[in-house]
Amino acid sequence: MRGYTPGEQPKSRDIVKLNTNENPYPPSPKVAEALAHFDAESLRRYPDPMAVALRKRIAQIHHCAIENVFAGNGSDELLALATRAFVNDGGAIATFDPTYSLYSVLAEIRNVKFRRVKLAKGFAWRRPPASLNAELFFLTSPNAPTGIQYDKQEVRAFCNAFPGVVLIDEAYVDFADASFMDLATEPGNRNVVVTRTLSKSFSLAGLRLGYAVGPADLIDAMYKIKDSYNLDGITQAVALAALNDLPWMRANAKKIRATRIRIAKALRDRGWTMTESSTNFLLARPPDGEAERRFQALRAQGIFVRYFPAPPTREYLRISIGTDSDMDRLLSALDEM
Ligand code: PMP
Repeated sequence: MRGYTPGEQPKSRDIVKLNTNENPYPPSPKVAEALAHFDAESLRRYPDPMAVALRKRIAQIHHCAIENVFAGNGSDELLALATRAFVNDGGAIATFDPTYSLYSVLAEIRNVKFRRVKLAKGFAWRRPPASLNAELFFLTSPNAPTGIQYDKQEVRAFCNAFPGVVLIDEAYVDFADASFMDLATEPGNRNVVVTRTLSKSFSLAGLRLGYAVGPADLIDAMYKIKDSYNLDGITQAVALAALNDLPWMRANAKKIRATRIRIAKALRDRGWTMTESSTNFLLARPPDGEAERRFQALRAQGIFVRYFPAPPTREYLRISIGTDSDMDRLLSALDEM
């Protein structure tokens, strides 16, 4: 098998790095404080295997019980665990196409079938067919790499009808107008799990903390199969500090949204077309559709964006939203081309 290819992490600090949807602003000062005051002596012992303090805070944020919360080593761990907890041997996983490219790799690792439901024109929502035979559906909203947020009533109707587990991956939701978290926390929910990450809006991709919220029996199934100590003690302490400073995260997300709106307009003024993004990136098509050429030319100038050569996205660049000055460098490089 080929494995998943993560976005490039260049060594040089001079690169304008708009290729992996990281946050250009630093994490909360409370994070630095938690690190500075972290008791190194405590590392002698194993960390809390159930991450109770951290999960209590997450449960408080989402008005649910701690039994409804799983904390993991980045949301990628949650996704991998879901393929083991919710899918039978010989079973199937389904997603929309295009979407986050890790899902198909996880299905291959799990050795189960992978069914793609092609999105409608312009990467718009399409109700998956009732005949869809799968035990787990990865539903990314806002979607990556399209940036599109789906309609909540449509998603709710699909979740109600789907016999298996729907995992709604909300990695980018803090840059959107609305969340579907209540589908996971409302009474009577049997099959919806919502995942979040601290990698994007909380500026903590290097920390590795993701969490899932859902029905207690599904969360319990994930706990049964995780590594005994999936979250180290430093991550538990630092993530808690970050989650205790939501205003910091929200202020950064607001800045990024403002930059996104400005750059979307600037690109449209230059004849580019793009999807309506509810995330910290744009999926944008140059006027001549020659995305790969621009990807290479930008790279040569030290500006990294992401290019997905598969047919549905090959005329687009995925551009993470950086600082205003990063984005101005991108615009002038494009203007010079
Ligand atoms: N879900 C989606 C849709 C993503 O784009 C990403 C980032 N690559 C992830 C999950 C993984 O995030 P994390 O850093 O929490 O593993």
